[in-house]
Amino acid sequence: MLRRTLLLGLCRGPLGRGLGTHRGGSILDRDGKMSEIKKKIQSILPGGDWNPLYDTSYLPPESSDVVIVGGGVLGLSVAYWLKKLEKPRGAIRVLVVERDHTYSRASTVLSVGGIRQQFSVPENVQLSLFSIDFLRNINEYLAVADDPPLDIQFNPSGYLLLASEKGAAIMENNVKVQRQEGAKVCLMSPEQLRNKFPWINTEGVALASYGMEHEGWFDPWCLLQGLRRKVQSMGVLFCRGEVTRFVSSSNLMKTASGEEVNVKRIHEVHVKIDQSLEYQPVECAIVINAAGAWSGQVAELAGIGKGPPGTLQGTKLPVELRKRYVYLWHCPQGPGLETPFVIDPSGTYFRREGLGHNYLGGCSPTEEEEPDPGNLEVDHDFFQDRVWPPLAQRVPAFETLKVRSAWAGYYDYNTFDQNGVPLLLGREGPGAQHHLSLAGRAGRLQAVRPRPTESVGGGDPRTDGPG
Ligand SMILES: Cc1cc2nc3c(=O)[nH]c(=O)nc-3n(C[C@H](O)[C@H](O)[C@H](O)COP(=O)(O)OP(=O)(O)OC[C@H]3O[C@@H](n4cnc5c(N)ncnc54)[C@H](O)[C@@H]3O)c2cc1C
Repeated sequence: MLRRTLLLGLCRGPLGRGLGTHRGGSILDRDGKMSEIKKKIQSILPGGDWNPLYDTSYLPPESSDVVIVGGGVLGLSVAYWLKKLEKPRGAIRVLVVERDHTYSRASTVLSVGGIRQQFSVPENVQLSLFSIDFLRNINEYLAVADDPPLDIQFNPSGYLLLASEKGAAIMENNVKVQRQEGAKVCLMSPEQLRNKFPWINTEGVALASYGMEHEGWFDPWCLLQGLRRKVQSMGVLFCRGEVTRFVSSSNLMKTASGEEVNVKRIHEVHVKIDQSLEYQPVECAIVINAAGAWSGQVAELAGIGKGPPGTLQGTKLPVELRKRYVYLWHCPQGPGLETPFVIDPSGTYFRREGLGHNYLGGCSPTEEEEPDPGNLEVDHDFFQDRVWPPLAQRVPAFETLKVRSAWAGYYDYNTFDQNGVPLLLGREGPGAQHHLSLAGRAGRLQAVRPRPTESVGGGDPRTDGPG
């Protein structure tokens, strides 16, 4: 404990600030400079391996205005916009708590990086249009002085959604919504489809919708690193640790109309320090739940879902971990540069990966087939039995494909309506105002209300396809 106090003291003092790693410079630059300084001091100082300059940048501060739980693309994006919109500069202290700085299980880096506007809900189309502007002008948003420009490897190849007879009417309706919102999407008959993409077998396809601009895929790891670099340069603090507890207080208050309201708010977050048994309490005003697939669990820490059944507090955040496989295959006879991100009526999807006739794709299992999310092992039989047959049926050239690698990731699945959840929580009683929680389906942040299920593939009721 004493050591930690000393370390915190050192970090907060002028020396610590000088060496602090929160502002400016890329992560690599900073680490390099730190170790250079350490080496220099070690070579001058007598006394062997005693090192007064521990890197304490991972320790949380004692207080922060906003604590963001989770440093994936959503947590960093919230941090970015909080700092971008703050007035005056430096007005808000923002802390991002991330338990795994290698992001080995984060959905962001295990995703396939697709972005489309082909949704059924206007809010999703709008969010995606906003996001594509951000991605296409990434260096206007995320440039950092003296650092190289960011290249997120955006491939503007479009999404091609295929619908069966059963799904054609839904697809037509969806395209109407998408166009009303400003997305450039066209409908194609099987014949038009064959003309444009001769490698597609149109058997069982009644209609297709194709995004003519602002759709494609990018490298999510580059986006994550770019956001991280930028928010650090804007003064956002990071710490390595796990949020394990929220401490709340309740106050009975009266509204202007004399109604009694029990105002409950989180005022302290406990951060368990990485590789330590200790935790650091962080006082705060606002907590943002950006824990992705784990946000249901984080909400539970705040008591969400633990109240009496039928009340707001008794309603769980309906976000669950769902294990999804991505397979990467090689096929020299496969389609070329013009290959869009294809989603088949069966729910199977694929896209090109690079320019060497490599492709990646997968398909969501049925409810009955849902794999155990206890680990991230890949089921290779799933490709043989469920992914390959519809792939080879749709693109005959894929008969000869060879799987080169595969991985599994956790999908942040909203069991309620498969949309994003900006959930307000933390205050009980009528007219309740709550803390903000971002959970489920990245880039789909919209008001919580039952919505028609997002439909991919024109008739597929399961919506956790890519993008
Ligand atoms: C295989 C696959 C393919 C996908 N393809 C696409 C696609 O093409 N297009 C698309 O838009 N979306 C896709 N997605 C979904 C997308 O990846 C996610 O919706 C998005 O990345 C979620 O971002 P996030 O920041 O909320 O979550 P994450 O990236 O998972 O970040 C959450 C972070 O919170 C941290 N955390 C959790 N609990 C705690 C705690 N208690 N304390 C501290 N830290 C904590 C975790 O370590 C994690 O790093 C795909 C997902 C998968 C699995």
